[in-house]
Amino acid sequence: MGDHVVLSFDSCRECATCTAGHPVYCELFAALNYFGTRLDGTATMGRRDEDVHGSWFGQSSFGAYAVASVRNAVKVDDGVPLDILGPLGCGLMTGAGTVFNVLRPAPGQSLGVFGLGAVGLSAVMAAKAAGCTTIVAVDVNPERLKLETELGATHVIDPARTKDDSPTNVTS
Ligand SMILES: [Zn+2]
Repeated sequence: MGDHVVLSFDSCRECATCTAGHPVYCELFAALNYFGTRLDGTATMGRRDEDVHGSWFGQSSFGAYAVASVRNAVKVDDGVPLDILGPLGCGLMTGAGTVFNVLRPAPGQSLGVFGLGAVGLSAVMAAKAAGCTTIVAVDVNPERLKLETELGATHVIDPARTKDDSPTNVTS
């Protein structure tokens, strides 16, 4: 067995935005992540005589083997359980990265998060870490709303509930 890795999006690591530390704005981002081929147009996989296009987000990873590049395989500590690392490759970076790098809330500010998948959950945790004092989480899944209160949401809203479901659909 080799190193444990987490797969994420691919970037060239050579263009101006990559070398400036912003690989998500890589000049070749679309070609590396959305075309389903290598940069030269060839497919990364094949079946009999046909090309099989994969490499969505710079990887093909729904199988026993994964196709990725060394640029988007990030080595992680062998002691961390692999089954909890999947969200790091996209959801956690997107949710927490948006809060920390784009929204940049100051302590005491408020933040609302709509949709509580891996991205939304990570945004709520980042908002708490950033010192937001009012964090509103919105989702129609009661289990996710319960988890959000444990992770930092100060208010949860289920827009699918009617006013007859409970005394209120806002929990604080
Ligand atoms: Zn680049």
